[in-house]
Amino acid sequence: MAKQYLKEAVPAAQVAKDLAGVRTVVESVIADIRENGDAAVREYSAKFDNWSPDSFRLSDEQIAAIVADVPEQVIEDIEFVQAQVRRFAEAQLASMRDVEIETLPGVYLGHKHVPVSAAGAYVPGGKYPLTASAHMTIITAKVAGVARVAACTPPIRGEVPKATIAAMHLAGADEIYLLGGVQAVTAMALGTETIGKVDLLAGPGNAYVAEAKRQLFGEVGIDLFAGPTEIMVVADEHADPEVVAVDLLSQAEHGPDSPAVLVTTSREIGEKALEYIEKILPGMSTRDYAGPAWRDHGQIIVVDDLDEAFDVADSFASEHVEVLTENPRQALDKMHDYGALFLGEGTCVSYGDKVIGTNHVLPTRGAARYTGGLWVGKYLKTVTYQEVREPESGARLGEVCGRAARVELFEGHARSGDVRAAKVRGTRPEW
Ligand code: NAD
Repeated sequence: MAKQYLKEAVPAAQVAKDLAGVRTVVESVIADIRENGDAAVREYSAKFDNWSPDSFRLSDEQIAAIVADVPEQVIEDIEFVQAQVRRFAEAQLASMRDVEIETLPGVYLGHKHVPVSAAGAYVPGGKYPLTASAHMTIITAKVAGVARVAACTPPIRGEVPKATIAAMHLAGADEIYLLGGVQAVTAMALGTETIGKVDLLAGPGNAYVAEAKRQLFGEVGIDLFAGPTEIMVVADEHADPEVVAVDLLSQAEHGPDSPAVLVTTSREIGEKALEYIEKILPGMSTRDYAGPAWRDHGQIIVVDDLDEAFDVADSFASEHVEVLTENPRQALDKMHDYGALFLGEGTCVSYGDKVIGTNHVLPTRGAARYTGGLWVGKYLKTVTYQEVREPESGARLGEVCGRAARVELFEGHARSGDVRAAKVRGTRPEW
């Protein structure tokens, strides 16, 4: 039996058309900010977010007043989650060893990891105040050793997202701006009269933010392509279809462009999950996002066996993959293309998003084929060095360099080898 669809998504051509529209808008906003700096930033903030305060940057007094206004339980929970994120990030940093080896007598080659000097953390907030993204981007940068972290988040429907600002502050942001979208990431990437340029942009965002980062890449570093959230569930006959349905909808509610896909070896689980979705969705307070997302981007695919299910899941290279099967750890060997795996019913994407401590900034739209998610390593540059302390090894390298460079017709390179070899051998090079 070939794979069968119990529910299909809109054709890929429509998705591509929507993305082309986003691309055009982003190009023109970046060009305008490049030309007109702060004035253009202000214009787009007013246009897209109806937000044009005296200063986009919050002062220390404003931050203190906002933090004081956040309920104690919310602060406690932020601190709990930040401790989880910090602990995992610190363990990842500890796994990154510097390297130095002696390849020939007295010849030393090494690499070390150097943090970027300044990072821009984007914390989304158009539809929901994504407080957790502050932990993910800012704490990780600070653990990596980034000296200056500028962080931007938009106002949410004209309001200050207080818990998010508190999380940005507690995470250790050096500068906090109430500014969102393309104008925020472009200002941080290019620098304006009032916002200092950064070396690397990190953080998730909607299609506009993700596309802006993609277009700015090169002039600034970016962590990864982290756009609208995606969920893939791989389920066998042992899965609970109610849990499957709830978890698919948990990600569909991010926005109308969020794909939610179930691949299952059990037609019965697929049919029941579909029934649960139809039952649960209308009662969700977030149905205006989850509904269109499920209608346009929801899929249920029935396959013959788990090997095929893992292959199909890999072909999506989805941001999140929940494995709800009898032996979920199988996926660690069988799957290659995903942002994060959630093994078994004990955990879920919502834990990854909000509390458990792995980073929730993850690759979307197929980027999981070539990158994992945000981690301390994304804020670090792996730079190399070399030293030759033994004359005989130096002479040998110089002689090989002379010959190898001339094969490539590089006379100047060859002479750098010649002159060093000659000094060791006590001869004079002929120019
Ligand atoms: P956001 O902060 O990403 O975007 C809001 C901004 O978009 C606004 O400030 C506005 O300036 C801009 N904008 C809105 N409409 C526009 C238009 N027509 N033209 C130009 N700019 C426009 O917040 P959001 O919209 O709530 O999206 C958050 C996104 O982040 C969701 O799609 C969610 O799935 C995603 N996300 C991804 C990950 C990941 O790791 N991949 C993690 C968390 C969240």
